[in-house]
Amino acid sequence: MDLTQLTIHEMQAMLATREVSATELVRSVLDRITRLDGQVAAYTTLTEERALEQAGTVDRLLAVGTPLPPLAGIPLAIKDVICTKGVRTTCASKMLESYEPPYDATVIRRLKAQEAVLLGKTNMDEFAMGSSTENSSFFRTRNPWALDHVPGGSSGGSAAAVAADLCAAALGSDTGGSIRQPASFCGIAGLKPTYGRVSRYGLVAFASSLDQIGPFAKDIHDCAMLLHAIAGHDPCDSTSANLPVPDYSSALTGDVRGVRIGIPDDYFIEGMDPEVEAAIWTAIRTLKDLGATQEKVLLPHTPYAIATYYIVATAEASSNLGRYDGVRYGYRTTRPTDLLEMYQRSRREGFGPEVKRRIMLGTYALSAGYYDAYYLKAQKVRTLIRRDFERAFEQCDVIATPTSPTPPFKFGEKTEDPLQMYLSDIFTISVNLAGLPGISIPCGFTKAGLPIGLQLIGKPFDEATILKVAHAYEQATDWHRRKPPL
Ligand code: GLN
Repeated sequence: MDLTQLTIHEMQAMLATREVSATELVRSVLDRITRLDGQVAAYTTLTEERALEQAGTVDRLLAVGTPLPPLAGIPLAIKDVICTKGVRTTCASKMLESYEPPYDATVIRRLKAQEAVLLGKTNMDEFAMGSSTENSSFFRTRNPWALDHVPGGSSGGSAAAVAADLCAAALGSDTGGSIRQPASFCGIAGLKPTYGRVSRYGLVAFASSLDQIGPFAKDIHDCAMLLHAIAGHDPCDSTSANLPVPDYSSALTGDVRGVRIGIPDDYFIEGMDPEVEAAIWTAIRTLKDLGATQEKVLLPHTPYAIATYYIVATAEASSNLGRYDGVRYGYRTTRPTDLLEMYQRSRREGFGPEVKRRIMLGTYALSAGYYDAYYLKAQKVRTLIRRDFERAFEQCDVIATPTSPTPPFKFGEKTEDPLQMYLSDIFTISVNLAGLPGISIPCGFTKAGLPIGLQLIGKPFDEATILKVAHAYEQATDWHRRKPPL
């Protein structure tokens, strides 16, 4: 048996019966990383020694019969934007290339409390700005399904690692689609929780009113387990919601009879790839065969979503990234002649081109005289987008859409034209603006063998329903079981 292909719940069962040890599991995944990560390039940092040490701890606990939490001994990968104590957290930026956080993010503390095994940190677009992982300052991560294609972004490393069995599951972050779109491109499940569901403490901030951490997994059961592990109130994040965390696994009943699936006409736009569109309609038919009903819903402000997002997100980014001044953290230029030159050169040399573009756009949108015309207006449109969803959810329980208008694209295909890259976020961005939960699950492949993803959007804090629908769909199909030809 190839241990690296197991899901979390399969690993958990085998650990519990002592059919396999945590050390064997972790070693098999580390061996696979050694063999294949040269091709995929998912990891920015590997922590083999710590991982094996942690696996040893779990094995000792198992040997004396200690009852262990569900994630004990499970090998996980973490997007390099989430702070890990004593382990480099680079945001794939030259700015933070040698930054070792003195503390763990809350999600990391929660995983460690469950005795999970952290394998390392994964590649991403610099500061999570991008949709292809091509904006990493270090290297490009490849799509395991087609090595000349992008894995999506910004959490491309985490998605590729899960798809290639270079970890059991992973964490990413999603500001405008960065979990769902790479999950779609890599043929796996990826969930962005409701804003406030998961603590952002220790997540390096991109756009604080949009950012959320969430899981990438090989199936929905794993997704539910990982979400359960990381969700919940955290006094260290004032925007985290003080609400009970349901047992998501118990929502996975397979029964979707009577669930109302909303289909927004506004999303079936010109320019959508026909193979993607066909796969989505087939998926909707499958859900209807399982007893769900199809409802027509309207999201009329969709055409403004991209413009709104790229004002709100860049404005917040320009403020958040002000902290990289060459003094407090990160890169500092060598031999500046004075203070001003030190700031200027540190930022010029430390940030890549996309990050600079966003800082300039955001600074402009916030500047005196333009604030009302751009930022304030964007905030108002954001409210209209949220209301669209509130109204739509009077008619339905979940909304189904494509995750991305196209299948994965080739390296370089969209790098010349940033606007083209921004447009590829059309179906994911509104969900962040409205603060809603959304999941992408595999729903087919193109003729060329590239994965296609179905997005399910839920009501605020109703991750349970999207997981339930995703799970029922998964039971009826086998897309999630396919493996890339590595
Ligand atoms: N692709 C979007 C952007 O470039 C979303 C990124 C994200 O979710 N972090 O901003």
